Amino acid sequence: MRPLHARYPFFAAARQAVESAEVAIATLVAEDAPAVERGVERVERALMEGTVEAEDPYAWDTESELLSYPISRIIVSLVETPAAVDKYARAEADTAYEHMVADFEATGDDINSDARASLDDVLREFDLAGSVRAERTENAHRAPEYYWVDIGPYLTYCDTDWGADWRLVNRSLADGAVRVGRKELYKLLREAVRRRVAEGLPFAVRGSDAGDQLADALKPHVERLRNLLSDRGAVNVVYTDTVSPDHFPPCVESLLSRTQDGESLSNEAEFSLAAFLVGVGLSPEEVGGVVGDASAESLKTRATVLADSSGSQYAPPTCETMQAYDLCVNRDDRCDTISHPMKYFETATSGAESTATTDETPGSAD
Ligand code: SF4
Repeated sequence: MRPLHARYPFFAAARQAVESAEVAIATLVAEDAPAVERGVERVERALMEGTVEAEDPYAWDTESELLSYPISRIIVSLVETPAAVDKYARAEADTAYEHMVADFEATGDDINSDARASLDDVLREFDLAGSVRAERTENAHRAPEYYWVDIGPYLTYCDTDWGADWRLVNRSLADGAVRVGRKELYKLLREAVRRRVAEGLPFAVRGSDAGDQLADALKPHVERLRNLLSDRGAVNVVYTDTVSPDHFPPCVESLLSRTQDGESLSNEAEFSLAAFLVGVGLSPEEVGGVVGDASAESLKTRATVLADSSGSQYAPPTCETMQAYDLCVNRDDRCDTISHPMKYFETATSGAESTATTDETPGSAD
């Protein structure tokens, strides 16, 4: 197993390395090997933070890092939430994109590192070597700024959501190829990675004795991840013109006040707070602005991941889950009437609006 395989675990060679190592995933799971812990971290960070990079990159050896990839695919399949697969594949692709940019732009001794992939390596991996050509530059020592990509692969990997700039009518075309900037080429490769990671997900894990045992052994991890994602009650996102913190439930007020005081929150607490603030309609920038300097960047990143998801799939935890996390604090009377912090906010906001309307009604009692 090479460090390169651990850095790009979706490469065909990485998969072969796992197969030829003859390591039984079931044994790793039964023994709770480091690769399992890293696999769980991989999925959790993908779903919550949009990256699969290890929190501590030095905590895992090459083997654990590489084996964590097939384990994370099993976990994502067991989570059984469509948004989980999508979010996970995007996080793998985004992390790979960062690796690719760093590797392709590496200079000096870094170029020869055994862990790095060249642009040619990645193009070959996706059968694009014959479809992408660098535009000649006057300075042969400088990396090309532009490339020509055959129309077929361009249309395959180009996403219509990327905007008008990517439409063929707005592109230079010649000899059946499309001109793209260097970073645009990397973006196309990121999409190629996303598709490869998403391919075959989710798959059926249960259905055989071995699969059932595997699923049972991973159950605690899977249930915790499901709880992080959302709970039984998908909650509609509440958008209001004016988001008043006075209407936040006590649990959220407490989290907000702790983070504003500079306290570092647990993973669950950060997720709960970010998901709530996004749910009431704050933008990631606004979330970063209200949580205090110490947590601004981290909460803003979480909010960005949550904000581009499909709403209800990333609803904040229910009151029941908040209680399980020990985050349900300072309950008040309204808490007895609801089962979700978002519902608390909704009823508090609508109650305040109807009071205001009554007060403004001509002829209402002074
Ligand atoms: S009951 Fe629900 S809304 Fe109230 S404090 Fe607990 S978790 Fe928050």
